[in-house]
Amino acid sequence: MRTPQTRSSIHLSTQQLDRAVGVVLASAAGDALGSQYEFGPPLDDAVTPEFGVGVFGHEMGEWTDDTSMAMPILQALADGRELDDDATLDVIVTRWQEWALNAKDVGSQTRGVLSDLSETTAQAATSRAESFHRTTGRSAGNGSLMRTGPVALGYLDRAEEDLANAAGRIAQLTHWEDDNVDACVIWCLTIRHAVLTGTLDVRAQIGWVPIDRRARWQDVITEALAPGMHPRDFRQGNGWVVRALQAALSAVAGATSLRDALERAVRGGQDTDTVASIAGSLAGAMYGGSAVPLDWKRKLHGWPGVDANDLTRLACLAARHGQPDSEGWPSAGLMPVYTRSDYLFRHPHDAGVWVGSLAALARLPREVDAVVSLCRVGTEQVPHGVESVQVWLVDQPHRNDNLDAVLTDAADVIADLRAAGHTVFVHCAEGRSRTSAVAALYGARHHDVPLTQAWQDVQATLPRFAPQTFLREAVERMVTADNDDRAE
Ligand SMILES: [Mg+2]
Repeated sequence: MRTPQTRSSIHLSTQQLDRAVGVVLASAAGDALGSQYEFGPPLDDAVTPEFGVGVFGHEMGEWTDDTSMAMPILQALADGRELDDDATLDVIVTRWQEWALNAKDVGSQTRGVLSDLSETTAQAATSRAESFHRTTGRSAGNGSLMRTGPVALGYLDRAEEDLANAAGRIAQLTHWEDDNVDACVIWCLTIRHAVLTGTLDVRAQIGWVPIDRRARWQDVITEALAPGMHPRDFRQGNGWVVRALQAALSAVAGATSLRDALERAVRGGQDTDTVASIAGSLAGAMYGGSAVPLDWKRKLHGWPGVDANDLTRLACLAARHGQPDSEGWPSAGLMPVYTRSDYLFRHPHDAGVWVGSLAALARLPREVDAVVSLCRVGTEQVPHGVESVQVWLVDQPHRNDNLDAVLTDAADVIADLRAAGHTVFVHCAEGRSRTSAVAALYGARHHDVPLTQAWQDVQATLPRFAPQTFLREAVERMVTADNDDRAE
């Protein structure tokens, strides 16, 4: 066994960290989005898939086995463990067994392996997976690929070869056949590349499979990347790992956005949750967690009792070998507050919305039952029992891959919360820049206040009003686009 190295010094840009979060968040979103369509026919492009009660009884927004099996891998990395360590793999197998005891759905091969182990170790699981393969002659279900995304997060600053080895080993904990190993290796390396660069390059990763299998994978990838291909074209047998990879890849390669990638994946039919989960791990790596709609994030939840905020926190930690940043984020219970910016006021256009700073979370009015955070918050900072909507918005120009969509989404989620009867507190660290921008956009977009007036009203409300130029410009763009839409 290799001695784990100390790796606390990894530096990821805010966009790279956002994309690392996307691997987990978008995969879970795809999983939950596909849940109610599993085994169903392909859907027409005119149909917009929605969260609903799953075929196996999963709740609306609840992820299924795909994400649940990824969780122990993600948790191990977030705890600072190394996947090259046999003891880590033992923990993962143990947690899979615990989950499978009460799971609503477990893949047949995974259940076959996990329910019949001589001991709860990685070695026993791998041996059982091999004997299962030798008995049945096949073990290439898509159950290995659906959970592989987090593996890549442990290797963003490490040799690609190490990632290839880990991806293969973890695949074979339940699925022995070479197709699983190759698919997980190619997918993890493609995710790693996408997190680091924001681009899709799957062909370059084929070199990580054994030389005698590369030509075949070239053909597989070429077919999936051919112009016009859609997950519907790979519907037949998409429970097979190779076909699932093709379906997911065609979903991502032909998409114009993260949402589009997941919707395409679900429209393919059959194993919709798994194909969308696989597609999500790559689409999230390309577009970032900030591209996952807040409406989806609010609904996402699942085993082991975690939600989208928890997934974000775990993914950040996993990408940083378990190390929080210098301020303690995302592990700290409380993020440092600026005491001279401790204030909250009612929004000038909606008395059911309060706006202010991070410090004011400690003295929220009783009526507030939802918080929209535009900055980093500690795990204990939003009062218990209050809904916490956490928005990934960096208060620096050129640091947000999805700036316009995030701003629009933030204003819209306030409106959604209000429509559902909530009283909302919207804040950032100091209540200067991000809060000002979102408050003005909310007034303009949802209360028909002319933008110039909205800025003036918000300025009169917030004593430290100072939206950064890039945010001001983005809000102007959003409101202009709204007005153009109305004029058409
Ligand atoms: Mg599933």
